[in-house]
Amino acid sequence: MTRMTPLLERNEQFAETYTPVALGLPTAQVIVVTCLDHRIDPAMVLGLQLGDAPVIRNAGGRVTQAVIDDIAYLAFLAEQLFGTEGAPDTLFEVAVIHHTQCGTSFLADAGYRHRAAEATGLSEAALEASAVADPHATVRADVELLLTSPSLSPKVSVSGHVYDIATGRVTITVDARYPERSRG
Ligand SMILES: [Zn+2]
Repeated sequence: MTRMTPLLERNEQFAETYTPVALGLPTAQVIVVTCLDHRIDPAMVLGLQLGDAPVIRNAGGRVTQAVIDDIAYLAFLAEQLFGTEGAPDTLFEVAVIHHTQCGTSFLADAGYRHRAAEATGLSEAALEASAVADPHATVRADVELLLTSPSLSPKVSVSGHVYDIATGRVTITVDARYPERSRG
C-alpha cells in the first residue's frame, strides 16, 4: 500500500498523451529557484511546459551553496552542449522567487528556532539562514549572494521576485543583472 497509488493513476493518464522532449537548452532560458511549499508550483504559477526551465527548490527558496553548485554545473553543461546556440553572451537567467506566508518564517523567532534545532539536529545558524520572514528582503539578499559568488558564470544573469500566496501574483523585486565582474 502506498499513497502514491492515486498519483500513479494520474501518471498513467499523463503518459498516454506524452511526447518526450529532447535534451536541449531550456526553452524559457530561465532557471527558477523557489520554495518547496506545496502551494507554489512553478509549472502552474508560471505556465511552464516540459523543457521550459529547470527548477531548484528548497525550504524558503534560499540561495545555499548547494543551489550555487547546481547553477554552476547547469551553466557548464549548457556551454558544453549548446555553447554555439542562442545569444552568444547569455546562457540563462536565474529567477529567485520567494513568497509570502512562508513556513520558514517561524524560524525568525529565536525560541522556535532553538526548539527546531534541538528536534532536528540542524544548527540554529543554518535554520536562521533559511528563514523567509520578509520575502522582499530575503530575495534581495539572495540575488546579491548569487551575483557575488565566484562560481557564477558571467553569462548568467539573476533576478528576484516575490510570489503572493493571497493573489497568485508574482512581482519583480530585483530586475535581471549580470555579475559586476563580467562588465570588466
Ligand atoms: Zn516557503
